Amino acid sequence: MAAPAEVGSELRSVPVSTVTSGLQVSFEFFPPKSDEGAQRLRSTAAQLARRSPHFFSVTYGAGGSTRERTLGAVLDLIAAGYPAAPHLSCIGASRAETAALLQGWRERGIRRIVALRGDLPSGSVGLGDLRHASDLVAFIREQTGDHFHIEVACYPEVHPQARSARDDLLALRRKVEAGADSAITQYFFNADAYLRFVDEARAAGIGIPIIPGIMPIANFSQLARFSEACGAEIPRWLRLRMQDLGDDAPAIRALGLDVVTDLCARLLAGGAPGLHFYTMNQAVLSDEICNRLGIGQA
Ligand code: FAD
Repeated sequence: MAAPAEVGSELRSVPVSTVTSGLQVSFEFFPPKSDEGAQRLRSTAAQLARRSPHFFSVTYGAGGSTRERTLGAVLDLIAAGYPAAPHLSCIGASRAETAALLQGWRERGIRRIVALRGDLPSGSVGLGDLRHASDLVAFIREQTGDHFHIEVACYPEVHPQARSARDDLLALRRKVEAGADSAITQYFFNADAYLRFVDEARAAGIGIPIIPGIMPIANFSQLARFSEACGAEIPRWLRLRMQDLGDDAPAIRALGLDVVTDLCARLLAGGAPGLHFYTMNQAVLSDEICNRLGIGQA
């Protein structure tokens, strides 16, 4: 196993500028809770728009809890002239509710959806009519034909509830067979996990683009919490270095920027067709990573 310093110097030699043309870059937001948050999101989107993103996406709260706010944020982005996609989760929802939602989105000119199963909050009852994301994708196609471009989720480090890595890959294949057009990965910090996953997907007959999901590091304790919940592994060397930095927020951001930029450079050099940034509604880190990679205007 290479020590971090060696990894860094090896990565800095990747000729990033040769691999950034024609990339599909996208930025993910969560729906703001207030008018002030909506205003801030408009400036965040305006800043990131200079990177010529393929689209912005807006997450969807468990069990439809953000249905109106997700739509509001997507329509706001579209009104500002940006391509934007709502996420949609099916767990806990009925077929009739989902059909009505899709019809409304279609009438409002939405053309892209990130289709997910979602996770119900603990204590919720009723799983709904569509149990897996593949059921949702099939339902979207049944209801709306080819109207929507459908993105789905996938997991280079394996979904935490999967029975096995193979089963999880087959779950992705089912989503593709049901009509998914492209996939976005859960975030990860190990480039080899992605590169190997793509090789395995191709060997399993999955031909759609697989875009790596990228989590900029702003706050280490928050990142550790998220990672625990979603099954993303923080490498030991990175965890220890971050812990050494304690509460030194600027140092954590600086290390995070170096590490995540190097990760992106390796992914692009390895053939990743784009990058999807989990922005947490903040422009600065995703923007700086794009800047260092030479993506869009500075
Ligand atoms: P699925 O593809 O249904 O897979 C879920 C689990 O079931 C996996 O373990 C899979 O292996 C297994 N499985 C699938 N099909 C079968 C089958 N037929 N039989 C047995 N097992 C099966 N969550 C939200 O609530 N809102 C969001 O906006 C949101 N956005 C996300 C965006 C991205 C890019 C990603 C990667 C995740 C997002 N999530 C979101 C989280 C996601 O909802 C969770 O990871 C959820 O636990 C799984 O969703 P999925 O669509 O991958 O489900």
